[in-house]
Amino acid sequence: MVQKECLVCKKISYSSGDSYSWFCPYCGTDLTRQKAIPAQHDVDFIPSQGTYHFLLRDGKLDTNC
Ligand SMILES: [Zn+2]
Repeated sequence: MVQKECLVCKKISYSSGDSYSWFCPYCGTDLTRQKAIPAQHDVDFIPSQGTYHFLLRDGKLDTNC
């Protein structure tokens, strides 16, 4: 699984691969050329390599877990 962050709405979408057209499921922006990073599922607040960026961009970093 990989994930991409939308440039427009900043939401994360997930897919099993990044080798095809990819549109943001939230606002419809074409993310095909956006760089995909490895996705981790149950990760909402685990600051690992794949999600650290997302957590920072989300404005808070939860280190309690
Ligand atoms: Zn979007």
